[in-house]
Amino acid sequence: MFNLQKLVRPNILKLSPYSSARDEYSQSEGIFLDANENPFGELNRYPDPYQNELKSKISKLKNVASENIFLGNGSDEVIDLIYRVFCEPKTDKILTFKPTYGMYKVAAEINDVELFEIDLDKNFQIDFKEYKKAIKKYNFKVVIACSPNNPSGNIFNEIDKILSIFDGIVVVDEAYIDFSETKSFLEKLEKYPNLIVTQTFSKAWAMAGARLGMAFASKEIVNLLNKVKPPYNISTLNQNAIIDKIYKIEEFENQKVKILEQKSILKNELQKFDFVEKIFPSNANFLLVKVKDADFIYNTLIDKKIIIRNRHFVAENCVRITVGTPEENKKLLNALNEIY
Ligand SMILES: *Cc1c(COP(=O)(O)O)cnc(C)c1O
Repeated sequence: MFNLQKLVRPNILKLSPYSSARDEYSQSEGIFLDANENPFGELNRYPDPYQNELKSKISKLKNVASENIFLGNGSDEVIDLIYRVFCEPKTDKILTFKPTYGMYKVAAEINDVELFEIDLDKNFQIDFKEYKKAIKKYNFKVVIACSPNNPSGNIFNEIDKILSIFDGIVVVDEAYIDFSETKSFLEKLEKYPNLIVTQTFSKAWAMAGARLGMAFASKEIVNLLNKVKPPYNISTLNQNAIIDKIYKIEEFENQKVKILEQKSILKNELQKFDFVEKIFPSNANFLLVKVKDADFIYNTLIDKKIIIRNRHFVAENCVRITVGTPEENKKLLNALNEIY
């Protein structure tokens, strides 16, 4: 049975978090002589530590209550905080499925937490039998499933099953969900109290420079993340930039349509090349392409100042190509024509 208290590190459970001036008095009207700010200027005040205005916009956008939303300085901060809340260094273990997003491993190493990686099958799906074996054998605190997965681009079919037999924390990283027609796990938050869904403004929302990652979870989990986060982790500039962006939802929708159109053009054109062995099905804004010689293609394109991602070390002879503008994609295809 899921027991949140038992999963949290004892030091975090008993932590009294830093109480900022804005925690102690949070109304917006008044003469503020409490935070040693300079009284002059426009960005002179500390930002809202709980980003209430931004959260209420995100709440409407995602149809999730504000109390179930945590915001991080990118999802990378969210991942790090999840490790810090639940995983005792040198003791606790995390499980993920490889190849996947590299930050899970880096964050594990930084936090000195052991990361187990189960190989995905040849279609980059989760091998459920291996998963069952692993969770029987080891006591994992957290399981992370990235869906659509980076770098393979596919949605995992087995996440419900993974959730239903595991009573630790399950993180579903949905950084690319906006590009997918598959439903988000956001609607399963009430069903699974151990579920954390992460999303980001860095990809489909075109706001990677503003660093805003989201975690959606139970109020209790959100409160734990709030306890541990740096008090003012999202700057005023970034909060306002995202609020402005959410007003421009039509731009977001139009760009998404354009990117998906370009993805299918790029896929069709790439398929014509002899050196392309396979293009994996993608629910994201990139294609994982198996080629004859990934190192050669990567290096030759670099010489032409076209940068793709060489994933040879994680998926044999595969490169990951992000869908660019129509002009950028044409230049890529022309360059490949010249090479071959
Ligand atoms: C790009 C990406 C993110 C986004 O990270 P941010 O810190 O929000 O920019 C998260 N997860 C995966 C799998 C990604 O590919």
